[in-house]
Amino acid sequence: SGWVRNRSVLITAAAQGIGRASALAFAAAGARVYATDIDAKALSRLEVVPGIVPRRLDVRDDAAVTATFAEIGPVDVLFNCAGFVHAGTVLDMTDAEFDFAVDLNVRSMVRTIRAALPAMLERGEGAIINMASVVGAAKGAPNRFVYGVTKAAVIGLTKAVAADYVARGVRCNAICPGTVESPSLEQRLSATGDYEAARKAFIARQPMGRIGQPEEIAALAVHLAGATYTTGQAYNIDGGWSL
Ligand code: NAD
Repeated sequence: SGWVRNRSVLITAAAQGIGRASALAFAAAGARVYATDIDAKALSRLEVVPGIVPRRLDVRDDAAVTATFAEIGPVDVLFNCAGFVHAGTVLDMTDAEFDFAVDLNVRSMVRTIRAALPAMLERGEGAIINMASVVGAAKGAPNRFVYGVTKAAVIGLTKAVAADYVARGVRCNAICPGTVESPSLEQRLSATGDYEAARKAFIARQPMGRIGQPEEIAALAVHLAGATYTTGQAYNIDGGWSL
């Protein structure tokens, strides 16, 4: 997308999976990318990529989020990709697990948006992209209680921000993937105790007959950054799961 060229972009959870693929896609489109993650070691693999500046950032840390935006200055695009999948039902979950998921999956986006938005408003332009999931608002899924709660909340958050700033040049959209290949997906499949059966079941959920690739989600993020007549939308990108 031409819009992205020479823009500054901050991505959270960019050390692996969809966030990493997005850092590479934005950089390939000519953006200056701040690739942030809590995992500094995995992030450092991005150091060699032209256009990418890796920076450690824990999105659960208020002071660190504020300090990061103060240091890097205004960004044109904020891609909130950080999120965690808790496995279990409402009865399996502890209060601490619920609080952790809400903090990492939802509150983290409130932190970064509060930090990035004033400069966007001052310039009258900006794009915020939030990572939700097809699980949550579009679909319920078994053993994804807190995850579904938090990802539905991301869509509410997205629409609320879009509505507040629609006339001031700031757009806010959400991405809702189905199952996508990533290191944490591999862990979730292994954690079931029967990797092959779990993988088959996840593929069976996707009418296209395959798991998505992180690059396919990254392409949507780049598109939404430059989608200048689009705001407040939740985009399913799910191999047909929500059909
Ligand atoms: P992943 O889960 O493999 O990687 C997550 C990254 O988040 C890691 O690099 C980790 O270090 C980082 N992280 C964890 N805590 C952090 C913190 N406090 N601060 C900063 N970074 C932190 O990657 P993924 O599977 O591509 O998931 C990325 C996003 O996409 C998540 O929000 C996830 O819920 C969402 N999503 C994934 C899928 C999927 O099937 N993979 C489907 C729908 C939505």
